[in-house]
Amino acid sequence: MTALTNLLDLDPAQLVAYCAELGEKPFRAKQLQRWIHQFGASDFDAMTDLAKSLRDKLKTRATIAAPAAISDHTSADGTRKWLLDVGQGNAVETVFIPEENRGTLCVSTQAGCAVNCRFCSTGKQGFSRNLTVGEIIGQLWMAEFELRKSKGIEPGPKGERQITNVVMMGMGEPLLNFEPTVTALKLMLDDNAYGLSRRRVTVSTSGVVPMIDKLSQECPVALAVSLHASNDALRDGLVPLNKKYPLAELMAACRRYLDYAPRDFITFEYCMLDGVNDSDAHARELVSLVQNGAESVPCKFNLIPFNPFPESGLRRSNNARIKAFAQILMDAGVVTTIRKTRGDDIDAACGQLAGEVQDRTKVQERMQKMAEYQKKFGKDFGRIIEVPR
Ligand code: SF4
Repeated sequence: MTALTNLLDLDPAQLVAYCAELGEKPFRAKQLQRWIHQFGASDFDAMTDLAKSLRDKLKTRATIAAPAAISDHTSADGTRKWLLDVGQGNAVETVFIPEENRGTLCVSTQAGCAVNCRFCSTGKQGFSRNLTVGEIIGQLWMAEFELRKSKGIEPGPKGERQITNVVMMGMGEPLLNFEPTVTALKLMLDDNAYGLSRRRVTVSTSGVVPMIDKLSQECPVALAVSLHASNDALRDGLVPLNKKYPLAELMAACRRYLDYAPRDFITFEYCMLDGVNDSDAHARELVSLVQNGAESVPCKFNLIPFNPFPESGLRRSNNARIKAFAQILMDAGVVTTIRKTRGDDIDAACGQLAGEVQDRTKVQERMQKMAEYQKKFGKDFGRIIEVPR
C-alpha cells in the first residue's frame, strides 16, 4: 500500500503539481487549498464543490493531518498551550497568546535544538529532528480551527480570525530548518490560505548569518534576533553560535535584512540574567553596539525576565535591575519593552523568548504520564481543558 500524501506538506505550487498528477486543472488546487487552510477541513467529503470523482481519488491517496495533541491547557489569562506528538517520543509545544487586539501563535520548527544556548533547556536536551512543513503549518491549522471551534466561530473567511500574528519562537532554530520553515511561511502569507501580512509573521533566530540573507531573498518577514549579550566574549558563552557568526557579522546581516524587511527595525531579544548580562555597563555597551554611526542597526529591544531551571545555574535579574537596564536603553533613544510572562499557571513555554523555557525531559515525562492515564481512563483523557476562572 502506498503512503498517503499529507496535503499540509504542500505549498501552493506543489498542490497544483499534485492536482496535475491526478489529472486535475490548477483551479482545483486553489479550491482544495481554501478548504484545507481557510475552512480547516480534513474530510474530503465535506469539500462539496469538488467533483465526486476527485474526492474519491483524494480519499484513497491523500490525507490532511496535523500532529496530534497530547494535551491542551488554557490558563487563567487565556493563554492556551498544546503539547503535540511528533512521533518517536518527541513532542513540541504550540502556544496561543490572546491580547486585546490580536492573537499570537508561537510555533516550533524543530524537535529539540542543536544550538545549545546556555539559558535554554531545549538546547540542553539536544536535537532530535527537523519538523516537516505539515508539522509546522499544522500547528497554525490546528490552533486556528480549534480556537474557532471552542468559541463557536464558523470556519471559512467569514468567521472571525483567531490568530492574527505568528512568531517562530518555539522549540528549535527556524533558520537551521530553512526550506520547510520558508514553505510554511509562504502558506501563512498566501491569500488562499491564512493571508497574514509579512509584518505579522516573525522569524526569530539565534543569528545564522547566511540564512538571514537567504530569508531576505526568499520570504522577508519580520525578524527577531536572540541577542542576549553586548559583546562577543559574553555571547560566545551564552549563544555558542556566536563563535561562528560574531556580533559584527550579525549586526551587518541585520542591516542588510532591513533593506527587505516589512518593518523598519529588527527586534532584539535579551534574556535578563542576574549578574551575567544585566549591569549598567552592559546596557551602555548595547547602546554602542546598535548606535554606531554608519554601522547602526534600527532596532527595538525586548527584555525577557529569565525563567530559571535547575541545570542552568542562572538566576533571573530582579525587577528593579531590569527596569534600570531598560531605562539606560530608553534614555539613549532605543525603544525597549519588558516582556510580561504569560500562562505561568500552565507552564506556557516559547523557547527562550517568552522567558519560559522548554524542557524536553519534562515533555517526555508528561507524555509518558499521559500514556499511562490514557491506558487507565481511555484515549480521550489527554484532552484536558482548564476553564479560565
Ligand atoms: S534559545 Fe533557541 S536557538 Fe538557543 S538552544 Fe534554545 S531553542 Fe535553540
